[in-house]
Amino acid sequence: MTNLPKHLDQDSEVAPSTQPLAAARLILDNNTQTLQMLQDLFEQAPAAIAIFRGPNHVIELANPMVCKLWGRIKDQVLGKPLFEALPEIRNQGFEELLANVLATGIPFVGNELPATLMHAGQIQIVYFNFVYNPMRNEAGIITGVIVVATDGTAQVAARELVERDKEKQLVRQQVEAERKRLLELFAQAPAGIAVFRGPEHIFELINPAYLQLVGERTETIGKPVREIFPELAGQGFYELLDEVYQSGKPYIGNEQLVQLDLHNDGKLTDIFVNFIYQPLRNASSGQVEGIFVHTVEVTEMVEARQKVERLAAELEVAVEKLHQANQELSQADQRKDEFVAVVSHDLRTPLTSVRGYAQLLKRYLLKPKQYEDEAARQLLLTRCLRSTEAILQQSERMDELITRLLEFSQIKAGKLDLNYKRSASLVEVVRTAVEDQKTTREDYTFVLEVTEAEIVTSFDVVRIEQVLNNLISNAIKYSPPGTTVMVGIESKPAQSEVVVWVRDQGYGISPAAQARLFEQFYRERTAQTESVTGLGLGLYISQEIINEHGGRMWVESQPGQGSTFYFMLPLKP
Ligand code: ADP
Repeated sequence: MTNLPKHLDQDSEVAPSTQPLAAARLILDNNTQTLQMLQDLFEQAPAAIAIFRGPNHVIELANPMVCKLWGRIKDQVLGKPLFEALPEIRNQGFEELLANVLATGIPFVGNELPATLMHAGQIQIVYFNFVYNPMRNEAGIITGVIVVATDGTAQVAARELVERDKEKQLVRQQVEAERKRLLELFAQAPAGIAVFRGPEHIFELINPAYLQLVGERTETIGKPVREIFPELAGQGFYELLDEVYQSGKPYIGNEQLVQLDLHNDGKLTDIFVNFIYQPLRNASSGQVEGIFVHTVEVTEMVEARQKVERLAAELEVAVEKLHQANQELSQADQRKDEFVAVVSHDLRTPLTSVRGYAQLLKRYLLKPKQYEDEAARQLLLTRCLRSTEAILQQSERMDELITRLLEFSQIKAGKLDLNYKRSASLVEVVRTAVEDQKTTREDYTFVLEVTEAEIVTSFDVVRIEQVLNNLISNAIKYSPPGTTVMVGIESKPAQSEVVVWVRDQGYGISPAAQARLFEQFYRERTAQTESVTGLGLGLYISQEIINEHGGRMWVESQPGQGSTFYFMLPLKP
């Protein structure tokens, strides 16, 4: 009771005589009982009551309730301007409200207005229901504001709780609806969708399209991928899943082959899929917790494309072959023309010689009188003999040419019959061939390399002699006189083979020509071989003969370094 008048007196901004409460005190002074009653009422009121005086809103009166709301004790506030006593409530709009009430005299009713206050050193938001009422002096001038407030914080909190509950429920409903929608989408999606959980990739969700794609599998949920798809071991998919789980980086597979046991019968079916492994992260920690799998089968598309690609490639090959065949045909045509020219020339040359010598003979024989003395007769005989020999030699050349042509036509007609009846010593055949050359070609040196006395096998002696003669005469034809021709033979019992070779120190053969030597009519033209005549058939015929024996023929050569021709025959008892 003693505090109240004292504080009222202390307000220097407002004259005490003009204060209604001061007036009341005068009255109440005379009535201590009533004053006590008012005092009690003020102190115990369930509402917060305060009186602010003057333009600075000096707190003239503050009951315990208002002190509690403010978080201060009475002594901290009484007599102080409101915004000094409670600096934390500055700039929250109260200055304007109070000034407005002071200026206009219109009371302000605030409903659950928030105020940020300091309670025991802590910032708190308190909600007020309050009335700012203007206080007037006897002259009717507004001198202050009386505030009656109740703490609406609990009420606000309660309502907020209810609202939050409602919101939560709404959110729950929305989430539930969303979940249902997603599940429907998930179930109806045409693509295979699955969710794997944890580092073991445990199946958590699978949609029907996925199940359809992967074939007959029951009870997949809750089981790890390695158990559900044992056939994927070694196909790289487990490793991909591990990688995505560990790295957190998604993986996109395009037209990837996967082999699945679709009917649970151990038989793997190839299917092609486009798929995505998308890591699923924990919303708060960001840790990868699972993998979302989206997969679409594209087998038909891939197979169709592969087929088209295959057909295109085949077409390309066919076109290339056609092109090659065309080229070969025109080359063959060209070679045939050359062949015809060479044949006619080679046949005509000996024929011309034969005719020449025959005419000479005729002339000698028609004029016998010129050769009556012994010496002249001897001369005639010598001339006749030389002409006859020349005729014989040229006929042999013609015979050889015709034989070669006949052989060629036989091969072409598929009539190369081998006479295999007898086993013979191949060493002997080689030796004879070399000896024959030695006697006729003294301008070359012949060396025979033989390590075994005998190599007996079954082969067509005449044909193999023909091959040998062809190789040796080529070695002579394509080497300058004075060089050496080596002929060797060696058996290779481990491989059941015998190899014969003819080596010269001649002009050699270019790599491009080596690849084509065994073709019919093929001849390499170089400055050195230009004058050498031939049909380009010898090697072709030789190779046919060797092939017919089940053997093989090849060449090793370097231009300018000579050549070695080999043929291999199988060793047969
Ligand atoms: P021809 O000797 O009648 O031309 P061949 O079929 O025997 O026919 O030989 C084909 C071609 O191979 C020859 O024209 C020649 O260019 C080349 N050739 C064959 N043997 C040899 C060799 N020992 N050295 C160099 N070139 C050779």
